[in-house]
Amino acid sequence: MATDTQVLVVGAGPVGLFMAAELNRHGVSCRIVDKNDGPTHDSRAASIQARTLEILESVSLADEFVQAGNICHAAATYTSDHKLIKYLTFDELDSAFPFVLQLPQSQTERIVARYLARLGTEVERRVELVAFEQDEDGVRATLRPADGGQETIHVSYLIACDGAHSPVRHALGVSFSGDDYPTDFMMADVQVDWKLPRDQLAFFFAAEGMFAFFPLPRDALPSLPILAQPKDIIRRSGSQPSRTSRGYSISGRRVAC
Ligand SMILES: Cc1cc2nc3c(=O)[nH]c(=O)nc-3n(C[C@H](O)[C@H](O)[C@H](O)COP(=O)(O)OP(=O)(O)OC[C@H]3O[C@@H](n4cnc5c(N)ncnc54)[C@H](O)[C@@H]3O)c2cc1C
Repeated sequence: MATDTQVLVVGAGPVGLFMAAELNRHGVSCRIVDKNDGPTHDSRAASIQARTLEILESVSLADEFVQAGNICHAAATYTSDHKLIKYLTFDELDSAFPFVLQLPQSQTERIVARYLARLGTEVERRVELVAFEQDEDGVRATLRPADGGQETIHVSYLIACDGAHSPVRHALGVSFSGDDYPTDFMMADVQVDWKLPRDQLAFFFAAEGMFAFFPLPRDALPSLPILAQPKDIIRRSGSQPSRTSRGYSISGRRVAC
């Protein structure tokens, strides 16, 4: 049984990766495991705010993020017949990063995982936490690699960064306060040709609901087949693409409040 690791971080999403990096930076030995074989495929949390960039700057990572992402200087809201309701610029934010950066979460995870590797810790992929138990000295955790077998380790702390549906939280019987908004959201990464500027977020309000457009960096999407669904949604929102939309990675979700 391994005994020289102080902390086990469960989950290599953005939270777990940054947690493991901070532990490393402060001289705390840790392992980080994730049951998946790599970063998420989805763009998910694609808007990075000024304050997050300031924190990334404190560990010299902001440049890498800004280089990889697409800078948005403003957000505009429109009616479905394309009349501007409100234009909000971020230029006057009191920050070294007076903008919102657009970067798919998959790339965020890659950048932070590389940084973590530079600090000396690799993410152990396809390794699942299957059980844990607290004793007087810490936590005994059972890990199951995808290629079979089982490993038990003893650590001083286990940090659960295992996402919204956290198995660790469930095992501990800790509740998740809040509720779902009574609305379904659909998210899709699509390529759209239109005349709107690439450095602004755009929101369209139509009778059927709201459509929000977050321009990702140009190289974030490979060349993909046209999907009927996002095309139809874009058309119904009144946001007038001049040609086609191409896309992948459609996912539905509920948002908790
Ligand atoms: C479809 C979708 C769209 C989203 N869109 C947005 C958005 O537009 N804006 C926004 O701000 N946020 C968005 N989010 C939310 C955002 O993705 C999350 O807030 C973010 O991923 C949370 O990061 P995390 O590191 O806490 O958890 P996660 O990214 O969920 O990472 C948890 C990790 O834990 C691993 N794991 C779980 N259980 C185990 C186990 N037993 N053993 C080992 N590993 C385990 C998982 O494999 C996963 O990699 C979206 C989420 C989804 C699903």
